Amino acid sequence: MTTLLIRPTPIDSESATGYLLRLAEANGYTSLLDLDLLVSKEPKLEEVAGIGTMLATKRLSKLRGAVTRFRNLKMTDPGGLDQQYWNGRRPRYCPACLAANSYWRALWDITLVTACPIHCVELCDSCSKCDHPLSWKRARLAACDCGAYLGDRSVVPAQPECVAVSRYISSLLETTPRGGIPAIQEPLDRLRLADLLAVCIFLGGYAQNDVRKPTKIADLHDVSIATSFARAAGDALEAWPSGYRTLLRHLVSKDGGQASSNRLAEWFGYFYTALYKRFGDRQFDFLRDEFESYIRDEWSGQLAERNRRFSKSTRIEHKWISLTIAGKTLGVKRSVVCSFIERGMLCGQLHTTATGRTSGTVRRDTLEALRAEKTHWLTLTEAREVLNLSRKGAYALLRSGKLHPVSGPTIDGRSIWRFSASEVIELASQEWTDPESSIKPHTGGPAHASAKGGRTRQLRRRQIVREVVA
Ligand SMILES: [Zn+2]
Ligand SMILES: [Zn+2]
Repeated sequence: MTTLLIRPTPIDSESATGYLLRLAEANGYTSLLDLDLLVSKEPKLEEVAGIGTMLATKRLSKLRGAVTRFRNLKMTDPGGLDQQYWNGRRPRYCPACLAANSYWRALWDITLVTACPIHCVELCDSCSKCDHPLSWKRARLAACDCGAYLGDRSVVPAQPECVAVSRYISSLLETTPRGGIPAIQEPLDRLRLADLLAVCIFLGGYAQNDVRKPTKIADLHDVSIATSFARAAGDALEAWPSGYRTLLRHLVSKDGGQASSNRLAEWFGYFYTALYKRFGDRQFDFLRDEFESYIRDEWSGQLAERNRRFSKSTRIEHKWISLTIAGKTLGVKRSVVCSFIERGMLCGQLHTTATGRTSGTVRRDTLEALRAEKTHWLTLTEAREVLNLSRKGAYALLRSGKLHPVSGPTIDGRSIWRFSASEVIELASQEWTDPESSIKPHTGGPAHASAKGGRTRQLRRRQIVREVVA
C-alpha cells in the first residue's frame, strides 16, 4: 500500500480533478497520468475511497465533481450530482479567482458555468500565451505547459445572463455562501442543484431550437455552446416571470406560422409535454403556474375544456374560447360566429386547416359583450317603431345602407332581420333626412293610423330605449 508523502487538505467545494492535480504536483509527479499509473498498481483503488487510503484521509467528501477522463483515476461526484452536468474534458477557470487563491473551484467544472459569479468575467479555457486549449493532463495546476502562469492574463466581461446563471449555480453548490454573490431568489431557491441545471438546459434549449423537436443537449463541454445555453436560460429566469413570458411568446411566434391548428400541443410541442411530465414535481410548480397564467392572459389558441392539466380556474378564465362554444353561448351556428368575427362584431381569429376546415377562437370579453347586446337586438318592426318609420321607408333606409342589420337574409341567411338597438337609437337621434330617397322620420301624419296606435308606438319606443340604456 502506497501512502503519498504530501497530503494537502481538500478545500470546501474544490474541484475533484483540480485537487488530484494539486496532489500530483505536490508529490513531484509530472502530471495526473503518473498518479493514474500509480493508482493502477494498487489493488481496488479505482474508487474515491482508494485514493482516500493513499492519502490516509476521509475528507475527500469536501470535493465536488466527477473524475472521468483517466483510465484508473475515477470518481463520481461526492455530492451526488449526475455526471452529465460535469465538464471533464476541457477545464475552464477565472484568472482573478485563481490568482487570489491557487486551487480549482468545482463550480468551474459545471458545464453551464461560463462566467465567474464574483468577478463577472468570462471563464478562460485556453492559454493566453501559446493559445493551446487547457488540459487536465498539464503538469501544474496554475500554469500552462508552455510556462505561462494562468492567473496572469487579461479577462473579458461576461454577459450578465451568464453571470446570473453562474450565481444561481454557485448558491446551490457551495456549502458556505461566497462573499459578493447575491443569494438566490424565489422561486429558484426551492430547487436542488440538479433541478436547476435541468431547468436551465430545458429553457436554454427551447429558446434556441424548434419547439416541436425535443431538446437536444448539444455538447455543453464546448464553452461557446454552453455560453449560448446559459445566456438563454439566464434570460428566461432573470426578473421572474417576465423573461419566462418573453420565452413563451417567442415559442409561439417562432412556430405560429406553421401550426395548422390552435391547440396547445401543436403550438408548444414537446415543451408543453415536458412541462407537465418531466417537470411535473412540486418544486417545478412555478414553471407550470406561470405557463398557465400566460395561457390565461395572452394565448389566443383554443383551450379544451377537458384539459385536465390546467386548473379549473384557468379553463374558466382563459380569454380565448373555441368557435363551437362561442356558437353555443350565442345560440347561433359556428358559421355565424365566423361571420361575426369577419364583420368585426367579435374579436377573434380564424385559421383554415389543411383539410379546408375553419377553426378559430373568440375573445371571451367580446363574446360576453355581444351576448349582452344580442338580448337587445331589434326586429324590423321594433326598429321601425324607434325610428318612427313606415315599412316602405324602413326598406328604403336599409337599401341606402344607413340602417345596418346584424342578422338577416343578406347577412347570415336568417329569415328575420335583426338590428343593434344601440345603433338604431343612435340613428334615431340623428338628423338624417336623405334628399335622394326622400326618407325622413314620420311626424305622426296620416300615414300612421290612429292617434291611439301612435301613443302605443311611443310607449313601446320609450320602453326599448329604457331597456337598452339600462
Ligand atoms: Zn473570479
Ligand atoms: Zn501556454
